[in-house]
Amino acid sequence: MLFRILGSAAAEGWPAPFCVCDACRLARQRGGKDIRRRTSYQLGDQVHVDWGPDSYHSMIALGLDYAPLRHLLVTHSHQDHWCPQELYWRRKGFSQIPAGSWLTVHGNAQVGQLLGGEHDSISALALDFHLIEPFVEVPLEGTGVSAVGFPASHASDDEMALNYLLTVGGRTVLVGNDTGWWEDAVWDFLGDWELHVVVMDSTSGPLDRPATGGANSWIGTHHFSCRGVVAVRDELAKRGALAPDCRFVANHFSHNGGWLHDDLEAFFGPEGILVGYDGMAIEV
Ligand SMILES: [Zn+2]
Ligand SMILES: [Zn+2]
Ligand SMILES: [Zn+2]
Repeated sequence: MLFRILGSAAAEGWPAPFCVCDACRLARQRGGKDIRRRTSYQLGDQVHVDWGPDSYHSMIALGLDYAPLRHLLVTHSHQDHWCPQELYWRRKGFSQIPAGSWLTVHGNAQVGQLLGGEHDSISALALDFHLIEPFVEVPLEGTGVSAVGFPASHASDDEMALNYLLTVGGRTVLVGNDTGWWEDAVWDFLGDWELHVVVMDSTSGPLDRPATGGANSWIGTHHFSCRGVVAVRDELAKRGALAPDCRFVANHFSHNGGWLHDDLEAFFGPEGILVGYDGMAIEV
């Protein structure tokens, strides 16, 4: 089954709409892989991860069809990952939804609250909401895929942002943004898995956290730098969680890091880590 990166930028996109920094100026000049939409993913044609402001644009740019979608997994409520108003267009009068078509949105409590607050009747949109319990595997009915949400180190004290494992045909994808260094319980949990594709948050590029963390200053609390991504890869390898053919991908980049696609490849290439871009497709 094909896993696609539909968008690869942090919240404001790259180039950012009003930004005159060198990284945005160069991205506008170069185009191609240096143009990055807000992050989201799709597995096959029925399972989608995150629904941000660029989901519609991704559909157009990559020639996708969202009509077959059955399950939408949302990582957290930040606006670059969750725009529930965009689901309004499933309503009668805006789209002809095939009879029996149904979409289940999975997420945390804040994601469910924003969905309910945005729409007076979600059943009129031919969808329902399922609250994810961390570490509990959920079969995504009708797709052959199962999902497990687990706590990311991100968001705020009152929101438990999620990362996901998606398993199909005995092969597993880890969607690891937005997050910093996971809690011990998550590392212990991940140590029991064999991961075939890992996509990790690489928001801040070469900018490690201020050195207050001493030797571990690359350990992000909400996001990772490039060095943090390497550290995550090394820790997962140490715990035996990476399959021999694992494709490890850095994604969710901010222009504030300043490294364009070529610069990111120059850093990650020798580490055997791939650099995500809009439209990247990986056979799981
Ligand atoms: Zn984000
Ligand atoms: Zn910029
Ligand atoms: Zn976020």
